[in-house]
Formats: sequence, C-alpha cells, structure tokens
Amino acid sequence: MHFRVVPSHARAMLGCLLRRGCGPLVLLWGLMLPLVSLRRLNQHGGRSQGPRDRPKLLLLSFDGFRWDYIDRVPTPNFHNLIDNGVMVEQVENVYITKTFPNHYSLVTGLYAETHGIVANEMYDPAANRSFSMETDSIYESWWWEEAVPLWLTIQKAGGRSGAAMWPGSDVKIHGEFPDRYLPYNASVSFEDRVGRIIEWFSAPEEEAVDFGVLYWEEPDESGHLLGPESSLMDPVIIDIDGKLGYLINELKKAGLYESVNLIVTSDHGMAQLSPDKIIELDQYVSRDLYTWVDKSPVVGILPVEGRNDEVYSKLVDANPNMVVYKKEDLPERFHYQHNIRIMPILIESKEGWTIMQNRTGPFMLGNHGFDNTLRSMQPVFVARGPAFRQNYLKDSMRAVDLYPLMCHILSVPALPNNGSLRNVQDLLSQEPARTTPSAPPGAGVHSYAPVVGSFLGVVMVLGFLVVYIKQVTLKQLPSLKHRSREMSQPLLQEDLHL
Ligand SMILES: [Zn+2]
Repeated sequence: MHFRVVPSHARAMLGCLLRRGCGPLVLLWGLMLPLVSLRRLNQHGGRSQGPRDRPKLLLLSFDGFRWDYIDRVPTPNFHNLIDNGVMVEQVENVYITKTFPNHYSLVTGLYAETHGIVANEMYDPAANRSFSMETDSIYESWWWEEAVPLWLTIQKAGGRSGAAMWPGSDVKIHGEFPDRYLPYNASVSFEDRVGRIIEWFSAPEEEAVDFGVLYWEEPDESGHLLGPESSLMDPVIIDIDGKLGYLINELKKAGLYESVNLIVTSDHGMAQLSPDKIIELDQYVSRDLYTWVDKSPVVGILPVEGRNDEVYSKLVDANPNMVVYKKEDLPERFHYQHNIRIMPILIESKEGWTIMQNRTGPFMLGNHGFDNTLRSMQPVFVARGPAFRQNYLKDSMRAVDLYPLMCHILSVPALPNNGSLRNVQDLLSQEPARTTPSAPPGAGVHSYAPVVGSFLGVVMVLGFLVVYIKQVTLKQLPSLKHRSREMSQPLLQEDLHL
C-alpha cells in the first residue's frame, strides 16, 4: 500500500526530525496517532446505543397536501425546511389513494393489500362486517391487525411513542395503544395537538417519547369542498404553512428543534372535479344486482352471489370515462388484489370524473383515490434534522420506503415490509453502516482508516527510535556525520512506502 500523499504536518515533522533531530515531539505525535484513530473508530459505528440514546423522530401528515401546493403561494416555512433538509419531488403513494390505506402504509411500509386497510369504507365477506369512517367500526382492532404499526414496534424495542390523532393510533392493535395518544376528536385544534406532542417529547428521560405522529385534517377538507384549483385554496395552503411554522417555533422553544428529526408529508393529493363529469351507474346496472361498498373514484362493487359476470359485462364497456376491473385482473403495479376485503369488481373513474348511482347524491369539487401514478394524487415530502442531509433534492421515492427509513433513523429493526432503505438512504446525512451489498464504491475506505492510522503511528515511533539512536551514535563518531543523512533519509522514505 502506497501513501504518496503525506499530510503537511507530517512532512513538517519529518523535516524537523531530519534536520534537527527533534525526537520528543515526534514520539508524542506517533503515540497520538493511534488514539486519534480509535476515536474515529468510535464515531464510525463502534458506539453501542442504549434505548435512551435513540434518535427522535416526529412524523407529521397534513391530510391531502398535494406535492405542488408549496410552490403556488408563499410557503416560507416549508422552504426553510427544504433549505436545511431534504425534499422528494415525486412520492408514489399506495393504491387506492385514500386516507386510511395511505396513513397505515406510512407507518407499516406495506401496500394496502397486505396491511388490510384497503379503503376508507370496507366490507369483509368472511366476517360479514363493515368498516366505515362514519362509524365506530374503525375502533374494532381486528381490522388493523394484519399489520403492526411502527409505534408498537418501537415500544417492543424498548422505545416510546406518542400519537396525536393519526388514523389508527387510538385503536388497540395487538393489545396495545401508543404509550401516549389522543382519542380522535376533530375539534381539537392543531395548536393543542402540537402542545401535547411537545409535552411528550420533552418529558423526563424515562418517559419521553422517541417517535411521534401528528395528524391534521387540512387541506383535505377544503380541497374536497372548494376543489384544489380554486383560488380559495390559496389562503388554506398559507394557513397550513403557518401551522408548520407554529410547530417549528414550539420545537425551538422547547429546545427540541436540533435533536428531533421532522418529516412532513401527506397521504395523497387532490384532483379537481366537475359537475359536468359524472358517471351514473343506475344507467347501466340495476342496484338490485350489487352492493356499493366503497365510494368514488374507485368504487368497490359486491355483486349479488352468482351474478359477478353479469354485473361485469353490463359495466365493462358502459362508459369511456371509467375502467372496470375484475379483482383478478387488477394491474400488478397497484399491489391491490390479494385481500378478501378488496371487492370482486372495482370501477375506477378517469381523473376528474365522479362515479355516482345518480345525481341526487352528494357531489364534491375535489377528490382523491385515483391511480397512484397520477401526479395530482401524490403528496408533499420534506424532512429536516440530524439524520437528514441539508439542502438536498431527490427525484422520487415510494411511500412504502418511508417505513424502513424511519426504522433506520430510530434504530429499531424493521418488520417485513414492501419498502427499501436502499431506495432512500441518500436522504440520510450518514450512510447506513451495515449495508455491505448496497454500500457505494469507496464506502469501506473509512473502516480501514483507523487501522492504517494506527499502523502509521507505530511505524513513526519505531522510525524515530532508529534515527534517534543512530544520531546519538553518530554524534559520538564525528568522522561519520556526513553519512548519517544518507542513512537516515532512505530509512524514513521506506517507512512511508508501506
Ligand atoms: Zn386523506
């Protein structure tokens, strides 16, 4: 191994030795090198991490915050986070792009077909039970227990979690709640939710949470009501930016801002609808032939027993603005097939269209649920904190990749999931330590540095001793003084060419 580049302080030291024989200084330097190297070794992963050393992470979802909202009105607080952290321009969330499925995917890393919360409105034919955001059915544990959310995993690993209104976080799942949580109550203000989160993070060490989740209903509600393209949405977005600013200020006031990693994202975007773009199912198939399970724009249809093919054939070519799938023919890219809660027939309207039975039903100017590759359906994603790089822009990621990323940041083992840390590790300020297959070329160089440093230090000490002894010997033999330089110089050069 060749060390052609000798640090300038090392060259000066060698010159000093050769010219003046300043031995004690070199001896000190040689002895210090291994110590410096050992310190570096500790910094590069030698430190064992107790539960109380665990990094902090707060995950915030502004429901329905579309990725491009931050550029349509001034949003200084979002941009401040981006300047000092990371942003991902395109996040592919999970199909269907509804609130419950996506919020559960964010904390499990699973597609909806695997975590089981396949829609906001569900029917389970095996149990003959229904799930609806409008009823207390969402508190029935078993709906959620096809997966384990991160707040429970971290508790199992000895950490603590706190949840402010995140969908599912006030449901007993596998017998447990988050250590701290708020029962869902839409009338609790954002500021009060933040207050509780701050309280939980700044509790005494043995009670403080390591992982927090915070949910806010806007701008989803306004997006549905006004339509995302309405100029009336501008003040709503500005208000959300103000709420983010409020959270940042509260974190700063509590002394948490530099230590808590903050991720701000959403479950989905929002598409503009029009009363001119309505599909009326009553025109094509009798209501007697099916049960309407989930709402537009992806309608779950449960045909009367034995009438699947009949219902399908009535719908499949009925309207050019909707696509009708048999469950078994759903495109693989949706990862939306292998669950009994997915209905035998699914009707998806094209972007901007609404499916109703007839026009007497409620109509909204904005909606989501459409194909997850549509840009209008995709959420914002920014993050800042000690775990993240600064001022870094990433092109794309999948929402399911967030889970392994959060597990890595929190130092908890990830449960099996559909995400990949490798896809998103470039967001991190430090490369994950134990990723031999995925480590970029050159990453291993750091691990050799302490060893090489130690070896160089020992060689320097030995070199000094040899030269010093020779110099002392030569002083006693003045007639041989000229030869000492010829002898000492090659010796030291060889030492440098290890
Ligand atoms: Zn939502």
